[in-house]
Amino acid sequence: MRAFITCIFLALALGTSSLAATTYRVKSGDTLIGIAERAGVSVPQIRAVNPSLKNSSVVRIGSTLQIPNRQVAAKKYHVKAGENLTTIARKFSLSLSQLLRANPVYRNGKNVWAGAVITIPGRNVAAGLGSSRTSSQAVIRTTGIRVNAAPAARNGWLWPVPGYHYVSSEFGERELDGTNAMHYGVDIVAPHGTPVLAARSGRVIESRADFERGWGWTVVVEHPDGWITRYAHLSQNLVQKGELVTRGQRVGRVGNTGRSTGTHLHYGTYMRWNPKDPMSLYD
Ligand SMILES: [Zn+2]
Repeated sequence: MRAFITCIFLALALGTSSLAATTYRVKSGDTLIGIAERAGVSVPQIRAVNPSLKNSSVVRIGSTLQIPNRQVAAKKYHVKAGENLTTIARKFSLSLSQLLRANPVYRNGKNVWAGAVITIPGRNVAAGLGSSRTSSQAVIRTTGIRVNAAPAARNGWLWPVPGYHYVSSEFGERELDGTNAMHYGVDIVAPHGTPVLAARSGRVIESRADFERGWGWTVVVEHPDGWITRYAHLSQNLVQKGELVTRGQRVGRVGNTGRSTGTHLHYGTYMRWNPKDPMSLYD
């Protein structure tokens, strides 16, 4: 009976692995055991997703192998000075949403402090064997992320450009013109002219062309509980300073004005002018 259960478990585990694998081209000097060790998986796991290997341990130079992703267990992590949830998520190849799901206490924009203990959720890790396919996937990952951002998050925050969930630049430190700068918001890619909606109800405290600070045409809304939202690089502002807006009301249109290198919405969220990662407010 025990053996029977083990077999079912193994079959399930291998079935999952075969769904997520990386293609690797065998190089001179490679051995099956060596490849398995570097990928952090076992030889039987590699065999299971490469029927051509059968019982052979010989791998031919130039042939391609499927390397199953490695399962990494959840663990605790001590936050270091200078880190925030965005940098930690990147460090462990997670999306911010995945990290927040494992640490719901930080969902409302609460800061993580150095020394805090957070949970790094278990995940699948692609084998980092240096094959061309793996490296090109890594490049794609660093140029942007696809976020979930349900149209209306549970806490009532509306995604300002419904239907557009590609974030080309996340909140946090980034390189701009060769220097490191903080990016206090997220850049959401959407076509020119797409309506930008107020994430929550509030009062417009700024609606102008702000080229001194590079925001271009920008709208800033203050919400009753101290939160502030900024919508920048707009092609058109649709509200005026002092106006009251309701959640979902059009405040402007997506553009490429100010210091911007492509059509997108810069969306910034602040708690009493302390910048907070907008993604911490969405599912
Ligand atoms: Zn931006």
